[in-house]
Amino acid sequence: MSRSAELFAEARQHLVGGVNSAVRAFRSVGGDPPFMRRGEGAWIEDEDGRRYVDYVLSYGPLAVGHAHPEVVDAVQAAAARGLSFGAPTVAETELAKRVKALVPSIERIRLVNSGTEATMSALRLARGYTGREKILKFRGNYHGHVDPLLVEAGSGVLTLGIPGSPGVPEGVAAATLTVPYNDIEAAREVFARYGEDIAAVIVEPVAGNMNCIPPVPGFLDGLRGLCDDAGALLIFDEVMTGFRVAPGGAQAHYAVTPDLTCLGKVIGGGLPVGAVGGRGEVMAHLAPEGPVYQAGTLSGNPVAMAAGIATLDVLTRDGAWEAAADYARRLTEGLTERARAAGVPFATNRVGTMMGLFFTDAGAVQGFEDVAACDADAFRRFFHAMLDGGVYLAPSAFEAAFVSTAHDEVALAHTLDVAERAFAAL
Ligand SMILES: *Cc1c(COP(=O)(O)O)cnc(C)c1O
Repeated sequence: MSRSAELFAEARQHLVGGVNSAVRAFRSVGGDPPFMRRGEGAWIEDEDGRRYVDYVLSYGPLAVGHAHPEVVDAVQAAAARGLSFGAPTVAETELAKRVKALVPSIERIRLVNSGTEATMSALRLARGYTGREKILKFRGNYHGHVDPLLVEAGSGVLTLGIPGSPGVPEGVAAATLTVPYNDIEAAREVFARYGEDIAAVIVEPVAGNMNCIPPVPGFLDGLRGLCDDAGALLIFDEVMTGFRVAPGGAQAHYAVTPDLTCLGKVIGGGLPVGAVGGRGEVMAHLAPEGPVYQAGTLSGNPVAMAAGIATLDVLTRDGAWEAAADYARRLTEGLTERARAAGVPFATNRVGTMMGLFFTDAGAVQGFEDVAACDADAFRRFFHAMLDGGVYLAPSAFEAAFVSTAHDEVALAHTLDVAERAFAAL
């Protein structure tokens, strides 16, 4: 029995499902999850001493790889000065300035502790600002485990085969309208019927929680137009796409400007940080300037701020982001070539440092139905062959894959080598 299997058996006696976030339990691929003990750059090592090239990167945050020396130094120095004050610190302004420079639609920002808190606060702010209740979201988009947004909510619930979630009150779910992603006509119909009651549209500008699905042309600007006509706010949930799809997020890549932006993951570089920011006039409705209440004991925590600042500095220096995006391009091209050589139906999506791998002969993968129609068994076998060979992918066909600035030629060659054998074995 492996050490990881022993540790998982023990963890299951104490932690629900042996984990603290559902997808980590390997339910959809089978087998025991390896327990990780360290990470360096693009590589992680499990408790049995096996090494893997990591394409999970903590589900997105580690944009500069594991234990980057500059990030570790910044965190250690901040910790030595005190873990938390509950009073203003310079680091909060410093992180805010960096985010605003990269994402100009953010005039002012509120820092929180997770992506879930960011979307929860954005909804409350949108409702408080507009005086309306209804929210429009898209099937297969995930916005954290916020009650009103846990409706047809992407990877975690999809992996476990749970349609919505017990525990969400009917009245809360009823204020959430849902239409298919990339279907602007369906959104138009909802606006025609409920336009005056809609506080906000919340969307993943590149869907990253039903694997990786870019927006079709006209979708994001179509939403912008619908919101403008109806007086609703457009919220981009860039918790995953922020600093990944482009240094300025999906809104920079697609040149569509939201009213509010939710951030998380990369903004904390591996420590818990989230943010909601946007138009100054809307943000001014948040307490203490406005009546919409929002607060957090550890919000703007100085150690977490230090990790976020150092991560964004490394990511935006000397073409680092561009090199990571180029790695992602070469990886998806290399995988596609090897799949074709092995005669395996396969397709990829890629935007910046985010990727989707699909076992399908459909060609383009543009919506939830396309992802659901992929060969789940082929994914499962490919996943385990990659894991055995030393390449760590997310244990679900509904998760995206990520690249960091630490992924280099050695990591790429290793990955493609293992993939060649994995495709051949299918
Ligand atoms: C991960 C994610 C969230 C939730 O962030 P947490 O930090 O896990 O609460 C929200 N929205 C999107 C798009 C995400 O990918």
